[in-house]
Amino acid sequence: MSKSLPRSPTTSHLTLSVARKALMSLATAILLAGCADLAAQNGSAGNTPLGTNTGTAAHNSPRLYVLDCGTITFASVAPFGLTDDETSVRELAVPCYLIDHPDGKLLWDTGLPAAMAGTSTPTPLPNGGGTFTYQHSLLEQLADLGLTPADIDKVAFSHMHFDHTGSANLFSASQLLIQQTEFTAAFEQADKFEGVFEPSLYEDLAQARRRMLNGDHDVFGDGSVQIISAPGHTPGHQVLRIDLANRGALILSGDLYHFRFNRTNRRTPVFNYSAESSLTSMDRVEALIKQDGAEFWIQHDKALYDTLRISPAYYD
Ligand SMILES: [Zn+2]
Repeated sequence: MSKSLPRSPTTSHLTLSVARKALMSLATAILLAGCADLAAQNGSAGNTPLGTNTGTAAHNSPRLYVLDCGTITFASVAPFGLTDDETSVRELAVPCYLIDHPDGKLLWDTGLPAAMAGTSTPTPLPNGGGTFTYQHSLLEQLADLGLTPADIDKVAFSHMHFDHTGSANLFSASQLLIQQTEFTAAFEQADKFEGVFEPSLYEDLAQARRRMLNGDHDVFGDGSVQIISAPGHTPGHQVLRIDLANRGALILSGDLYHFRFNRTNRRTPVFNYSAESSLTSMDRVEALIKQDGAEFWIQHDKALYDTLRISPAYYD
């Protein structure tokens, strides 16, 4: 059922840049931003709660839930390796994803910092570089599905940047699936990366049960949910491939690309760990997309995100 994957590339050494530092200053500024009052719930109707207390309808293939874990709007896209006249897009979606597999639940990315939740109107970043929103926390959205963090068996991150690890500390009882290279960088050498990582967001995972990865990983052993190593944006960046019984194969990009323009023009952010590795990963993932006829979602693509079914609706 699962096809063999092209081999994983290796990473090369880090090149720091002033622009990356600028973006990470922005990230820090975002973390420090205040939070507005929590907006009223406005969940969709017509879906069965997932929690064991409420009874989950039996299903024998994965279901994918897309959760709204914020937006970021930048004044300039220069940190992403683009000039401001190359794309008019400034807003990034920040989704989280729950994969409900018959053998367990996997959370993929945890969005903006939990402390920022409750911000329903665009809130200026302290440094003037843009705005963010984050309406309902990931925790609340899981509760809408009848779930608590204790129901999440496994947690994995495309990478450990602040906009993907914002609720990570809630899941210290879950099994962490992480590349050895990402663990080393984010947990043991974060100080070497000059603000790229924000360890306070995920420090509780340091003692979590974990499966250290050195390449691709078949999460549930049946080929239906596969972590695919795609280093470059960070040392252990990865993407996720899901075989949905009805919709077909789907790959979640992580931050292999931020904007469509990055993909069509093979452009890497200036704050990447390794542009060379990113380009190799792009080649590998694009080959996989072609080989499998897979659908490909750029996670931060707001225009795409706006077309998606959001939890409690799901894809299967
Ligand atoms: Zn990101």
